[in-house]
Amino acid sequence: MGIRTKSVHTGVYKDDSFNSVTTPIYPTSTFYFDALGKNKGYDYTRSGNPTRAALEENLAALEGGVGASATSTGMSAITAVLFLLKSGDHVIAGDDIYGGTYRLFDRVFPDLGVEFSFINMRDIDAVKAAVKDNTKMIWIETPSNPLLNIVDLAAVINVAKDNNCLSVVDNTFLSPYFQSPFEFGADIIVHSTTKYLNGHSDVVGGAIIYGNKELEEKGKFNVNALGVSQAPFDAWLVLRGVKTLGPRMEAHQESALAVAKFLESHKNVKKVYYPGLESHPQFDLIKKQQKGFGGMLSFELDTSQVACDHLFSKLEYFCLAESLGGVESLIEHPWLMSHSSMGEEGLKASGITEETIRVSIGLEDTEDLIADLKQALE
Ligand SMILES: *Cc1c(COP(=O)(O)O)cnc(C)c1O
Repeated sequence: MGIRTKSVHTGVYKDDSFNSVTTPIYPTSTFYFDALGKNKGYDYTRSGNPTRAALEENLAALEGGVGASATSTGMSAITAVLFLLKSGDHVIAGDDIYGGTYRLFDRVFPDLGVEFSFINMRDIDAVKAAVKDNTKMIWIETPSNPLLNIVDLAAVINVAKDNNCLSVVDNTFLSPYFQSPFEFGADIIVHSTTKYLNGHSDVVGGAIIYGNKELEEKGKFNVNALGVSQAPFDAWLVLRGVKTLGPRMEAHQESALAVAKFLESHKNVKKVYYPGLESHPQFDLIKKQQKGFGGMLSFELDTSQVACDHLFSKLEYFCLAESLGGVESLIEHPWLMSHSSMGEEGLKASGITEETIRVSIGLEDTEDLIADLKQALE
């Protein structure tokens, strides 16, 4: 089965009573027992719910994992994965990971005794050099947010394997449609389903997809114990959204490439970051490791010519908003918005400037998006 067929045909046909084509929502907190020890596989919705289970089946199939947990947010998925560690363990992470992940790693887990090294993950020697006796996990995010730097999945995952640590890949940016980390040997994949998997900006959610049964058992235990599983209604929305993942990703990408080329040729734009541009310094790796380029791009605005505020206020089809991966185009200022929690030092170290603008390309007509940017960049 191809991935588009999987996204439509997995986690459905669950209704034996009336044969509904879509999976029903089961908004119930609890399930009655027929007798002591005898139920239909569910007892309490935090621990398990048929709507959520249908979504988990679908997400596991899309990534090629053995199972999945659907969680309340992307951050709760990441939190549940971090709780696979214990005090004294060490984690290696990229220095340009998602701002909320960085905050969790920098300000929450160190107080629980987990140590972190934030490094430039494009430098494989730096990854090897960061490994310590207590390193238990390597946290990979590729492409990175917002600068679209690429981590060599095969190379970094091999370092994890050589050192007996878990490799975890945050695959939010490309979605399973454009990147398959399990093919490179990853142990766990996480997603913010808030983004492309749901795709309609109407829910927050997360997912953990497991590469083997042992991790699935431990991860599902954590999700239940921490109480971070996704509500049935939200799970139903994500299951509804995920069915159009393929066509949406193709459309996001087609426009993103056109917009990136337009921006690259514009005199008031200093630099464009997009994996589909041949000017991307890692274009060869991108073609080898990714199945597509995605719908996210960033650029450096020449603010001596156009102020950020001016650009934002003149745009008609790009909402000034955080988040990404929805049907509507969004634009934002990582320094002051999505990545401000990194602090000035962290921002500078990762290469984000006060002129960096991040764009999530939506599903509008490409010509309208380019025309809108053109008038706003004057
Ligand atoms: C948004 C995002 C998260 C966090 O997900 P939430 O659903 O907002 O909690 C994690 N990683 C990446 C790459 C993201 O874009």
